[in-house]
Amino acid sequence: MIACSNPKAQYLARKHEIDTVIGNVLESGWYILGHEVKQFEHEFANYIGVKHGIGVANGTDALHLALVACGIGKGDEVITVSHTAVATAAAIVMAGASPVFVDIEPDFFTMNPSHLESVISENTKAIIPVHLYGQAANLAPIIAFAKKHNLYVIEDVAQAHGGTYHGKRLGSFGDLACFSFYPTKNLGALGDGGMVVTDNPEFAEKIHLLRQYGWKKKYVSYSYGYNSRLDELQAAILRVKLPYLDMDNQARKRIAQLYKTSFVHHGASNQNLTLPKIRHDGNHVFHLYVIHSSRRDSLKMYLQQHEIGTIIHYPVPVHLQPAYTACKISKHGLAETEKAVQEILSLPMYPELTADDVLHVVDVIRNFKWV
Ligand SMILES: *Cc1c(COP(=O)(O)O)cnc(C)c1O
Repeated sequence: MIACSNPKAQYLARKHEIDTVIGNVLESGWYILGHEVKQFEHEFANYIGVKHGIGVANGTDALHLALVACGIGKGDEVITVSHTAVATAAAIVMAGASPVFVDIEPDFFTMNPSHLESVISENTKAIIPVHLYGQAANLAPIIAFAKKHNLYVIEDVAQAHGGTYHGKRLGSFGDLACFSFYPTKNLGALGDGGMVVTDNPEFAEKIHLLRQYGWKKKYVSYSYGYNSRLDELQAAILRVKLPYLDMDNQARKRIAQLYKTSFVHHGASNQNLTLPKIRHDGNHVFHLYVIHSSRRDSLKMYLQQHEIGTIIHYPVPVHLQPAYTACKISKHGLAETEKAVQEILSLPMYPELTADDVLHVVDVIRNFKWV
């Protein structure tokens, strides 16, 4: 069986280093918000190219706390996409605000900036662009629009650690940016984890308070707050993995390149199978390798029969999920979003995937009866 993603392969690749730091944390006797978290916050913020990083419990909390730090809550609207992990919208609701959905660009599956104008209202406070599948959203026009209308930009970088846009790391463009360290992400913990990064010291201070009961010092709350802490074990594991992130992303890119050349070589890339398109103004880090096909469902079943794991990211757009049907959507509609979910399929993609496995996947797809 070839899995679609494989976080255990990454653990095994760094087993000795990871086991060592886990042992060290266990022996230290300090398990929550200590040296490891502090160091990892510095190292990760430095890697992204921003001043502050605040470790939190997961990516959804990172988005939630970023929104609360901006003062966003009841009655406010936040523009995002429906074609994303439900977490993006869930965080907006957690803050008490309402998600408002715009459509995606069909080539890149990310926010269509030309639809932003159609949903703006006096209640709009922020935009959350999602850098989906490892690739940047079309940030320049989104940021220009936000500036013009005095809106916050909060980047959802949960799928694009290390990706770039116009030569800068994703996560260094917005007022704040949010990361998840869920095990399958490009930088993954062995459990849950997340981070908010920002250049703004006031936002950083607010997030520090919000993640732990509003405490400025122990036992004294200066604001309301939550419990959303990154633990020492996960931070120590992430510190082992961070120095390998660029290498791992390179491996993902090599795999994507091999998929492409093999599909083209075998002529399997016909009108029934479209390969991912890459923006020329950014570095795609291939969190996922997403093809689309009008025969998606039968192709998925066929690959399952041949022991090749695939996943649909994501099968039901947020605005069509029962809990979100009342949300406002763009008057241009979400036709591209609804079309994409019928056709997308994520093929196996993780840094340890071998070239032989990639060639095998392409070979099996080559023998699929398209008609
Ligand atoms: C994974 C993910 C999240 C949420 O992260 P968690 O750590 O699972 O809470 C948010 N947005 C996107 C786009 C994601 O892929």
